[in-house]
Parts: sequence; structure tokens; C-alpha cells
Amino acid sequence: MKSNLTIIILAMASVFQFSCVSANELPDLGDVSATVMSPLQEDAIAEQILREVAMSDDVLRDVEVTDYLKTLGTRLVANGPEKQQKFHFFVVQDRSINAFAMPGGVIGVHTGLMLGANSESELASVLGHEIGHVTQRHLARMLAAQKTDTLKNIAGLALALLMSRSNPQLASGAFTTVSAIGVQNKLDYTREHEREADRIGLQILDSGGFDVRAMPNFFGTLQRGSRFSEGSAPSFLRTHPLTSERIADVANRVEQMPYRQVTDSVEFHYVRAKLRATSSSSDAAISLFEQNIREQRYSNEAAEHYGLAVALLRKNAFTQLEKELAWLKKNAPPHAMFENLSARLEVARNSPQNAAKKYATALERYPDNRALIYGYAEHFLAIKQPADAVRLILAKQNLYVDDPYFYDLLAKAYTMQNKVLLSHQAQSEAYYRKYDLARAIEQMDLAAKANDGDFYQQSIVEARLKQLRQMLGDDKKPKY
Ligand SMILES: [Zn+2]
Repeated sequence: MKSNLTIIILAMASVFQFSCVSANELPDLGDVSATVMSPLQEDAIAEQILREVAMSDDVLRDVEVTDYLKTLGTRLVANGPEKQQKFHFFVVQDRSINAFAMPGGVIGVHTGLMLGANSESELASVLGHEIGHVTQRHLARMLAAQKTDTLKNIAGLALALLMSRSNPQLASGAFTTVSAIGVQNKLDYTREHEREADRIGLQILDSGGFDVRAMPNFFGTLQRGSRFSEGSAPSFLRTHPLTSERIADVANRVEQMPYRQVTDSVEFHYVRAKLRATSSSSDAAISLFEQNIREQRYSNEAAEHYGLAVALLRKNAFTQLEKELAWLKKNAPPHAMFENLSARLEVARNSPQNAAKKYATALERYPDNRALIYGYAEHFLAIKQPADAVRLILAKQNLYVDDPYFYDLLAKAYTMQNKVLLSHQAQSEAYYRKYDLARAIEQMDLAAKANDGDFYQQSIVEARLKQLRQMLGDDKKPKY
């Protein structure tokens, strides 16, 4: 973790350095945040962070979980004040209860928060609050206010804010790296910031159709520290100090809003069950789910059976897993996550024909489900049928044009087919979507030199190579 984050420091330092040069050239327009950090600069920082996110081992890759968070986040943003602002949501594997916002709308959510929230509205409360910090550009303003510090320090401060989320010791390590000891407090959100983020968050909850009462309730729970076990302490409190006054303030606002009965989405329950099924040993998870089912301790019975099924797959307990899938089929409405699990069962027990049949049927029903597309393509690669993988990916790729993983899969398939140009081209496009322009150019260059493409493919590769090189050239010039 540390090495990755150190890279972020350096990456961010370089962004700030070149923003300094241009900031000095700009006339003072009064609005400090706009002159020191333009939305374009924020985007540039966001890209640097997202490049690290794409490589980090701490980021959860489970597409069912991440797609759920993205859907929820997008729904909240659509009800916020800044619909033009770009947002990027990702899940961090960390048991502590926290979420954090970085410049450029990058929002990370800990698995601990997803598990610690008792309702979807509680989870949405924290997300809405973070979205509020972004739309009000609190971090950008604070960074702008650090005029007297060196820019290296400013980058370190931004990073420290990100890191202090869960591990204060790591954060102080980063401070040493950038020699910015003693200025941490300058980047704490102020009381006004917190109040403003609460206000925006509340408004987002309300127009998004969530239960607004969840916000004061959840904040109260976090403040009391109750409900949470040792490993999942609410580190949210460190970066967003929760005073009783602030909670009372939110509670007062909520009093004036109409009561609304809100039902959590089934995905909220299923995704949490999946996280629970994978966050301890399979045996421990299995016995916990079994106990909950036996004692009827759950808010969604199907989620408990689904979680048990996921844990059973980890243990290759196929017969018992089939029983759970049969239970779900009989007692719960059909769901893509059940279909995916059922196909993965066939993969795990090495029945490729059944697996292919399951994936194909499921995709007819859920044609744009990303987990099913991934699973089916991975299956084709595993059974050495690259042509089928290519056909599937090309048919589905237009649904997710920014997704690097489709290109990763394509590259693997083409490599299996010994298609050198196409394989490097796909790798290049994958790197491009991971914000790694240098590697994208490297791969496109290899594609151009491959000599096994037809005239048409060759021209596409050469044109794209030229375009990528131009982008890199543009990046080197100060453009702000
Ligand atoms: Zn806050």
C-alpha cells in the first residue's frame, strides 16, 4: 500500500508543480480556487489518482460489488447540485468505516462502510456527504489556501487527507516523505465545510428518494461507536469530525422533511452478503450464515442464502451449494447475481458445456450484465476457445467503452490466436483506459511494428499511435 501511495504523492507533486507555473501566469480573479485549481487541473489530478487505483491491490475488483456502488453513486450524483461534475467511484478493501473524496470527483468507499451501514439510506448518507465535499470543491479550496507552502507539501497534504482515512501512522510516514510535518490540521475540513456537505448530502438523499432520517441516525451511531467491532472502527470521524451540535443540526432539518418509508434494493443486501462471505475464512462464513438462517437473524432471508452459497463455492462444496441455489430459485425473484453464481459453480466443477449454457441463457435475460460478460469471456479463455471470447467481447464492448478489462480479455484472446498486432493494440487500449499513456504508446508502437495485420488494421494502429503521441506531447506543455 505504502509504495503505491508514495507514487501518488510523486504523481500529484508533478501535477501541482506544473499547475504552479501556469497559476502565476494567470491574473488574480479573486476566486482563489478557480485560479489555483481549475476543473481541468482537478481532472488531471483525478487521472493520476485513477492510474494508481487501476494498479492498486487494495482496490476491490469484484465487478458485482463495484457496479452496485457505481449505480448507487450515479443515482445520488444525478440528484445533486453539480450534474456536470465527473465522478469516479471505487471500493477499497478496508474493514474500517470510511469513505473519502479526492479532487476531480474521485470517491473511494471502504468495504467496512458498506458492511457497517444498516440500510442503503445510511450508506447513501455518507456518499451524499462526500459528494457534497466534491461539488462544493472544499478540498480544492483548501489546497488553494496553502499558498505559502511549497507545492510538494500541498500534494502531500492532499494525499495525507486520503490516507488519514484509515491509518494515521501511514499518513505521518507520507508527511515525512514530503517534509510537510505539522501542517496536517490545515487540511481538515472546517465546521462550515462539514455543515455544507451535510446540507448537500441531505438534499441529495431527499431528491434521490432515500430515507433522510438515516443521516442523523447513522451519524449518531458512528459518534457513539456502538454497533461496530474492533476491526471496523468508524475512521470517518477522523476526517469529518462529528460533533453533537452537527448531528442535532441535521436532525433538526430532517424534522421538517416528510417521513418516507424506503425499502433497500435487493442488491444492497446481496452485495453485502457477498462481502461477508469473502471477508473471513470460508468455514467461519459458512457457519455464520447457517446460524443466522437457523435463528432467523437477518433483514433479507434470500441474501443470507446467497451469502452462504458464495461461501460454499469458496470451499468447493458443490452439492450443498446446489441446494442453496435451488432454495433461491424457489423462494426469491430471479437475479443476475444468482445466475452468475450458478454458472461459476459449473466452471468450478469443470463442466464447461453446462457453464457455457448457463452463461448464454443468463446473458439472454441480462444482456448488459458486466459480471456475466466477464465470466463468460474468462470461461472461453480458460477452455481455450479464444475466437468465442473475441466474438462475445466485440458484441458487448460498446456497452462499456471505457472499461479497460474488456481490452485485457481481448489481448489475452488474440495472444492465444498468435495475432500480434491485434494483441498489442488491445493492450494499448487497456492502458489508455487505465490512464497510462506512456504504456499505451509503447504497446501501440509494438502493434504498428507487428507486420501481421492487413492494410486496414495497420492504418488504424498508425493513426491511433500518432494520436496517442500527440496527447502525450500536449500533456507536457502547460495547458492551464
Ligand atoms: Zn465531511
